[in-house]
Amino acid sequence: MLVTKYGKKILEIVEQSRSHMTAEQIFEALRQTYPKVVLATVYNNLNRLWEEDRIRKVSVEGMPDRYDRIQRHDHLVCKKCGRLLDVDLGDLTVQLERAAGQAILSYDLKLMYLCEECRNDANKKGM
Ligand SMILES: [Zn+2]
Ligand SMILES: [Zn+2]
Repeated sequence: MLVTKYGKKILEIVEQSRSHMTAEQIFEALRQTYPKVVLATVYNNLNRLWEEDRIRKVSVEGMPDRYDRIQRHDHLVCKKCGRLLDVDLGDLTVQLERAAGQAILSYDLKLMYLCEECRNDANKKGM
């Protein structure tokens, strides 16, 4: 499928970012290069790239979707502030297929935890 100049740049932004950007943050970054781009264009391109398996979408309840490089890795999710941390657990497909007794297409693993900042906050309030 034809990738527009916007699509190309969006893919580049997502692949280079390690901060799990929202569509709005990607929009802000894209505007540095293309000041006239509109947010709807960003959403359309993100959806298409996601449908084509060129980027990942990370959904956490109560948070806007965040976009990530496709390369295999998993996430620790802070239950309080929603911050995502990359964690490499290796490819668990074979173990999961064995446990499920089914061939699986993909999996989406989120490990809930409290990030250091939120843990420190909780400690302060507890004192
Ligand atoms: Zn946190
Ligand atoms: Zn990630």
